[in-house]
Amino acid sequence: MAPIVSRPWRDGDERGMEAQHVTVDERELKEFCEQVFIRLGVPPKDAKTTIDVLVLADLRGIESHGVARLPRYVNGVKAGYIKPIERSRVVKETKTTALIDGEQSLGQVVSRKGMELAIRKAKETSVGIVTVRNSNHYGIAGYYTLMALEQDMIGVSMTNAAPLVVPTFGRNAILGTNPISVAAPASRERPFVLDMATSVVPRGKLEVLDRKGLPMPPGWAVDETGRSSADPSRVLNAMAKRLGGGILPLGGEGEEHSGHKGYGLALMVDVFSGVLSGAATGLKVNAEERKPDVGHFFMALDPAAFRPLDEFRLDMDRLARELKVSPKAQGQTRIYVHGEKSFTRMERFRKEGIPLDPKVVEALKKIGSELGVKWPK
Ligand code: NDP
Repeated sequence: MAPIVSRPWRDGDERGMEAQHVTVDERELKEFCEQVFIRLGVPPKDAKTTIDVLVLADLRGIESHGVARLPRYVNGVKAGYIKPIERSRVVKETKTTALIDGEQSLGQVVSRKGMELAIRKAKETSVGIVTVRNSNHYGIAGYYTLMALEQDMIGVSMTNAAPLVVPTFGRNAILGTNPISVAAPASRERPFVLDMATSVVPRGKLEVLDRKGLPMPPGWAVDETGRSSADPSRVLNAMAKRLGGGILPLGGEGEEHSGHKGYGLALMVDVFSGVLSGAATGLKVNAEERKPDVGHFFMALDPAAFRPLDEFRLDMDRLARELKVSPKAQGQTRIYVHGEKSFTRMERFRKEGIPLDPKVVEALKKIGSELGVKWPK
């Protein structure tokens, strides 16, 4: 019988992976990256917010969305489609809702403001919903739901993204990997933090395998013919040149494993983030390099509007324990709740340092030397 698969880059094989990695102290990594942004004209407070989002991704083991992305943001600021000075504004507002025009500011900075506003509204009316248009890539969806958790609220965060995902039965990428995060507080157990792309994997994970020269498992992505491919470099290249091909929605190829449901989830994210806010949708997201027009959705919900907070948290604990003590599949020793593994990684990486791919370190050093920022010793 084939073994049940754990994903090597975030699970059991992490130790082996880290052996080839360079370990960097969280504070020193943040200091370096913040200085890079400051040299580009980003105010220190906004540089801090942006780097906080990127480094949280690395701390949670999401290396595809961590500081490895710094060069892309640097290029965005240099090319002018990411504005270093935050200029977002609320264009429409009710007691419970707001629409923000991001005015092409850094996605992380606008998004933090968006979730802060949703939380403020939820404190007054029990629920706050904020949509954002005309923004840039916002990093990991989970950063913003963790903000709601800090206030004992349920958080929801979604964003649309550049078209990389092929609809069921199609062969061209039309939708983004459009992630969803939902977080809910517990008491003694870890909170529930679901943070996932609606595709089988985000593009960053194809890039990670490409950097390491490894093949993709079947059912991750299709080539120009619309059929499954194991070659990340071929798929990335075809997508970059708009020759066709792309990543498959959750559930994979065709209807057999319910690819159509993942396709529906990706479309749902575009409805909430793109259509509702008036941002670009589908093929148009990021289509115009000068104006990516990414859309986001944020919601904060106060559980106390429904029942006492303590009761809610205790029932979250009970549910998590019910899952975790339930019988394990053959060969498995643990059942996890979403977010649990990332919290464990965070604690370890904060203590032991953050493991970075040597190629990522090289890229960061290069940016540092161009901008006169010293890589930590
Ligand atoms: P993963 O597949 O690694 O994880 C998805 C979720 O499943 C996480 O909440 C994870 O929790 C949980 N999980 C993993 N293994 C188990 C298990 N055995 N039992 C229970 N839960 C489990 O994430 P993705 O690759 O889909 O996404 C990675 C990141 O990329 C996300 O942060 C997402 O927001 C981001 N992203 C951003 C985009 C953008 O345009 N801005 C686009 C696409 C993705 P845990 O964290 O504890 O492992």
